[in-house]
Amino acid sequence: MKQKLMPVLFIGHGSPMNAIENNEFTQNFIKIAKEIDRPKAIVCISAHWFTNGTKITSMDKPKTIHDFYGFPEELYNIDYPAIGDAKLAKEVKELLGGIKVELDTEWGLDHGAWSVLIHMYPNADIPVIQLSINYNEPASYHYALAKKLLSLREKGVLILGSGNIVHNLNIIDFRHIDTRDYGYEWARKAKDIINKSIINGDFDSLVNYKDNRDLDLAIPTPEHFLPLIYILGLKQEDEKIEFFNDILVGGSLSMTSVRIG
Ligand code: ZN
Repeated sequence: MKQKLMPVLFIGHGSPMNAIENNEFTQNFIKIAKEIDRPKAIVCISAHWFTNGTKITSMDKPKTIHDFYGFPEELYNIDYPAIGDAKLAKEVKELLGGIKVELDTEWGLDHGAWSVLIHMYPNADIPVIQLSINYNEPASYHYALAKKLLSLREKGVLILGSGNIVHNLNIIDFRHIDTRDYGYEWARKAKDIINKSIINGDFDSLVNYKDNRDLDLAIPTPEHFLPLIYILGLKQEDEKIEFFNDILVGGSLSMTSVRIG
């Protein structure tokens, strides 16, 4: 019998405010955590750790990083005290053998990780490490790199990508920020194109997309999109794909989240 694999998740994290709000998105963060087996540890690939080279957090007690500006005091007071897992960090480094990986003791947990985990695992009782995204490399590199992490799934480790598939903050329409599923036409088109490619298993078209106006607007910079590419890289044949929070916010942001397996 084939070994059972831990599902992999891409979570659209959206505004840092989701960390302290109770809304339909955060309710689904809670729900998905209840639906999957309790992980032994979590490896988070966050849009907010976009680095020169590849790094893995390997401290015992990662600090909670408040990497955003102009938000209420309450958000800056949050501490997510999950422990790290230096042994797992070393194991990930070995799995990525062949590329240079730095074991990092400076970073911690950024809001891409903790604003979601605080809902999924509010007791912070599962070790969490972060794997950074090397900004020098194209999507195809990240897609191939992700595949090397497969054996972690056999060990009950949750690989969690945290970003936003449609993410163009410069043109958010704050007048409609509370209008449910408010999206610009191009954002809706981009979301449809990407969702279709995911459902059809046509990941190559997402890894290598080009000359598409809607996708260019949806993905002005790659850091919020690449965590999805990691999750797609980990999909095995015959695994089911499920979407949740698949709606648009403020015109140009999608909260679309994907469970594989
Ligand atoms: Zn973000």
